Amino acid sequence: MLCIISFLAESKSDAIQLITSIQTKEQLQTIASYQDAGRLSQAESLTLLLLERARAQGNDIDAAAAFHELGHISMLQNKYEIARSAFNNALEIFTREGLIEPIGAVLADIGTSYRYQSEYSNALNFHYRALSLFRTERHRQGIADQRLNIGIVLKELGQFEPALNFLKRALTDLRQQNRLDSVSQALSHIGGIYIDMLQYDTALIYMKDALSISEETHSRYRIGKNLCRLGNVYLKLGELDLAKSNLEKALMIFTELNAPKNYGSVLTVLGQVEIAQGNTELGLQYLLQALERADTNAYPDLKTEAQLALAKAYFSLQQPDVALGYALQGSEHAGERQQLSMQAKFLQVIVDIYVAQENYPAAFTTLVQKNQIVSQIVSENSTMTVAQMQSEIEVERQAQSIEMLRKNKAIALARSEQTNLRTTLALGGLIATLLFIFLLWSRYHQKRANLYLKKEVRKRTQELVHKNNELEDAYRTLEQVSLRDRLTGLYNRHYLEAQLPAEIQRCQHSFATARPEQQVKDSDLLCYLFDIDNFKKVNDVYGHMSGDKFLIQFTDVIHEVFRQTDLLIRWGGEEFLVICRQANRDEACMLAERFRAAVDEKVFELTEDKSIRASCSIGFCTLPLFVQSPYRINWQTTFSIMDYCLYAAKASGKNCWVGVIEASNEKGKAESSSSLAKKFGLNSVKLATSLNNLASIRWPEG
Ligand code: GH3
Ligand code: MG
Ligand code: MG
Repeated sequence: MLCIISFLAESKSDAIQLITSIQTKEQLQTIASYQDAGRLSQAESLTLLLLERARAQGNDIDAAAAFHELGHISMLQNKYEIARSAFNNALEIFTREGLIEPIGAVLADIGTSYRYQSEYSNALNFHYRALSLFRTERHRQGIADQRLNIGIVLKELGQFEPALNFLKRALTDLRQQNRLDSVSQALSHIGGIYIDMLQYDTALIYMKDALSISEETHSRYRIGKNLCRLGNVYLKLGELDLAKSNLEKALMIFTELNAPKNYGSVLTVLGQVEIAQGNTELGLQYLLQALERADTNAYPDLKTEAQLALAKAYFSLQQPDVALGYALQGSEHAGERQQLSMQAKFLQVIVDIYVAQENYPAAFTTLVQKNQIVSQIVSENSTMTVAQMQSEIEVERQAQSIEMLRKNKAIALARSEQTNLRTTLALGGLIATLLFIFLLWSRYHQKRANLYLKKEVRKRTQELVHKNNELEDAYRTLEQVSLRDRLTGLYNRHYLEAQLPAEIQRCQHSFATARPEQQVKDSDLLCYLFDIDNFKKVNDVYGHMSGDKFLIQFTDVIHEVFRQTDLLIRWGGEEFLVICRQANRDEACMLAERFRAAVDEKVFELTEDKSIRASCSIGFCTLPLFVQSPYRINWQTTFSIMDYCLYAAKASGKNCWVGVIEASNEKGKAESSSSLAKKFGLNSVKLATSLNNLASIRWPEG
């Protein structure tokens, strides 16, 4: 393990990659790329596998790396408490091992999780701790990251000057390090400061830069956030159409990523855009929806964002009483969380309302209160300096205890080398004596510190047991939550992958054990893949919300046509998979047609006064495909065949079905000349379609 550490240390600088085996390193890279692509359930499954393996092998460092990644995944899903549990588990292990850079990285992530929950003083504390650790290690990337994080938190606290200072230094470093994702983040937060300073044109330049850089890195999450911020600048500049198109793209990304908080933030801005365009009802609906999300999930910063937008909206709609209600609540809420600059914004709205109501005494009192807060923000600079110093001292303390752990490790290493050196007698003896003296010497120096450490370790171990229990609970919830698709309530791929192998084994078994003369009855699995035709248009013409409604009603048709016992899966986007169990392949065509017709006849209601008709294309196949040799091909290949059939249905004009009923080794028994037979190397396949005849099927090329 240690030789791997030093080998990797030379080639890569990322903290996690320093400490894990090459296999784990590759897995972690795959997990990271899944996260970037928004494929969170795959990232999560792979990470859980990694954790399980690490635990089984007793490999603590790999387990810590897995915990760290689980934390990242939960953060992307806005589950901050769960994320922190995972981070703390990783932290415990890294601290035990005395691995400074990973400790810094985890501390930074904990800081960020606090920032997302608007707990800014905790966030600052953790980022400063991480900063000092990285400084002692002269870890340039870590230092730049922490400057960025601290800049962001200071900005949230309304400390614009120091925030800009940190962000600018971070930006210079990040550019030099060619860290595009973080450069984009720094730019968008600098843009955010310009928005707060009402300099929208400058903000626009920063936001556009931030977006185009994130598009280069392909990080879906960052692109989503940048689109949302760009939408916000366009709103401020009165460019409502541009605002809307950017925000709708952001909504789509956060739906895909399953990130309710970010989705809510976009809704808050989109609501304001709709209201500005005169679509009052829809706009208010979005804002209330965002507020509801904030309440159900306990996202305090989203809550204040939504309350502020609602207060402003009702005020501009000349309903001052409702506006006042939201503004008073919001101001109190922001005050409780010490979001001073946010509170000042609420108080300004309250002043405006009182003035409009000609209640001048109340307006005056509120104005005084607002001014007090503004001056508090200014004088908080000195408070911040104190907080910074305090956490730096705390870090010194921690750095020291880590230094001790490191020395202990050095001793352990020396011991193992001692064994090797015994062979070289004279030199070995001398070194052993020296080591012994060194050991005594360092023990003597550490005696007092060790007593303290022992107590600490005992306390930490107890905490660890407690946290492990908490985490186990969290995983159970996480697993349950991630088996179903949120929008439609259908199962997702995760579930299928867990269920299908057993189903297939059952069905293969009954075919394999049947006597040759016996015909196997009702033991087939019928697999259907549905893809809605031209669905993108529904989104483009009626908006993403209507698209969602459509998908829910499409799911209703699936429930109407198929049985309770069938496996109903949302395969992805607008694609659905149904697996009928204990079925008969003779009925495959009839079922495909029944579903096609049901969709064709359905009237999809998108809004109160708008409904549309639609269609879908279907590819299907049966399992086992080879009745005579049920184990001949695996289910993944069978699914590829089904996918190919779906493509063929699309290419043949849509609103139709193409499927494979059976395949056989015997030449000439059925059709063998189609592209499908050639592509998959099948001697003979029994095809079926709703088109006029098999010759009408247009097979995709390649
Ligand atoms: P085709 O007939 O060739 O299948 O065309 P299509 O427009 O249906 O297919 P395409 O793959 O081009 O577009 C699918 C669209 O589905 C793109 C994506 O924005 C949308 N989509 C995916 N998931 C969701 C969702 O959860 N909600 C909404 N509203 N739209 C979604
Ligand atoms: Mg599709
Ligand atoms: Mg489609």
